[in-house]
Amino acid sequence: MLQAILDGRRALSQYADASVLEGWIYPLFGGRIVSCMPGDEARLATYLSASPRILILGAGFAGTNAARQLDRRLRGTGAHVLLVDRGNASLFTPLLWTVADGRTAPSDVMVPIRDFQGRFSFVHADVEEIDIAGRTVRTSVGSYPYDILVVALGSITTLPPVPGIHEHALGFRYPVDAIRLRNRLIQAVEVARHTADAAARSALLSFAVVGGGDTGVELAATIHDYLHAALFDRYPELKGEQVRIIVLERAERLTPMERPDLSSHAQQMLERSGIEVHTGTTVEGITADGVQTSAGDFPARTVFWAAGISAPPVVRALPVEHAPNGAVIVDTTLRVPGHPEIIVVGDSAWIYDAEGKPVPPTAQAARVEGIYVAKSIANSLRGGPARPFTYRSLGHLALLGLHTGLGEVGPIEVRGFPAWLLWHAYYLYRIPTWGNRVRIVADLILAAIFGREAAQVPLNE
Ligand SMILES: Cc1cc2nc3c(=O)[nH]c(=O)nc-3n(C[C@H](O)[C@H](O)[C@H](O)COP(=O)(O)OP(=O)(O)OC[C@H]3O[C@@H](n4cnc5c(N)ncnc54)[C@H](O)[C@@H]3O)c2cc1C
Repeated sequence: MLQAILDGRRALSQYADASVLEGWIYPLFGGRIVSCMPGDEARLATYLSASPRILILGAGFAGTNAARQLDRRLRGTGAHVLLVDRGNASLFTPLLWTVADGRTAPSDVMVPIRDFQGRFSFVHADVEEIDIAGRTVRTSVGSYPYDILVVALGSITTLPPVPGIHEHALGFRYPVDAIRLRNRLIQAVEVARHTADAAARSALLSFAVVGGGDTGVELAATIHDYLHAALFDRYPELKGEQVRIIVLERAERLTPMERPDLSSHAQQMLERSGIEVHTGTTVEGITADGVQTSAGDFPARTVFWAAGISAPPVVRALPVEHAPNGAVIVDTTLRVPGHPEIIVVGDSAWIYDAEGKPVPPTAQAARVEGIYVAKSIANSLRGGPARPFTYRSLGHLALLGLHTGLGEVGPIEVRGFPAWLLWHAYYLYRIPTWGNRVRIVADLILAAIFGREAAQVPLNE
């Protein structure tokens, strides 16, 4: 069988059943298999003549899990799946912090879709418009008809109309942001090193993070971690220098954890490592020198915006009911009311589950929703009833700096090094291919032995 894989002579599906292919073969051998599977044109022809044609928009957590599960569950039916995304890889956001803190490379956390593509078709294109009446989706490379549409286009960071936000604040969402964060910190340290004036040096080494949710908290901890674990060893003259990392949050408490007591533990852990947390503080403006807030001005040469998400423009443009952030309001089977052929999942959807609980916009929830959708579609194709969606969170984990973290797993609180270890173990387990998993582990080990990445990567900005 291995010979057949390497030669690319025969389709693997002759040798193994779908669960073996999905569970082991694709994740292990990835791209090598693609060469012996049917080409894009043949797959697309299969899609166009299939019944029903299931079109999935977005290859993130929700979309890829839906596509992979449908591949497994649609065998023997006349259905076929087409997945569309503007990238050729799925970004594994939880591990993006390891890129920002200099331990791994951007490609480690990007999983090429071709590496886990089973039988479904894939088109690399920008989704431009969804025509509900014509049951067609227009993309940058052509239009595709559908019988069932799964919208899984994620979200974008919301930038509210705060003066100076576009000019001075940086976002954090993509691998390029992780590299930009490293570049900015390296730049700050390089310039501070030859700045004689103490006040100017202190301004250079002041960083503000707006938003005290998951992203804001992990961002502040990553800045602290990267400065202390990667840069100050290389710039020993700056070691005793006062570094200010400030978290600004409008709510009265940090919000990465559901339980208020865990939020205050997160705040204590950040403060213990020297990070300032200002809750109940509204940002009113951002300048080149700092942040103006309801609680006064905070100096900072580098400001990150990590507060609020909203639906992408294509989703907002759908003529259906939306939540205030543009996400589509769906029913308990994740379908759009009045349009049972359209399912919306992940961050693009505003969901209350069968028990009336709001479902958070997280990777964990998006993955479960993707799997639910596949089961639900397969079930309805076999004439079964639509079961409502229920969601049980497995828990919550946050990385809070060098060898420390915080988590809630069911009713149990995990703190410090065990939480840090659990965070790494869980997300390594969840990344879908062995190629990415092995690369990340190798890079983590190399960073521990030889030190973290500390080269400025030119982004031509
Ligand atoms: C830095 C960071 C860290 C995070 N850490 C965690 C964590 O630790 N745990 C957790 O549970 N959640 C985490 N999240 C949240 C998590 O990433 C999202 O909730 C999750 O990605 C949502 O999944 P999704 O499938 O809805 O969207 P996504 O995973 O964002 O996928 C959307 C896909 O749609 C594609 N797309 C969008 N618009 C178009 C278009 N017009 N045309 C074509 N393709 C398009 C995108 O390329 C993307 O592949 C984190 C988020 C960030 C930003």
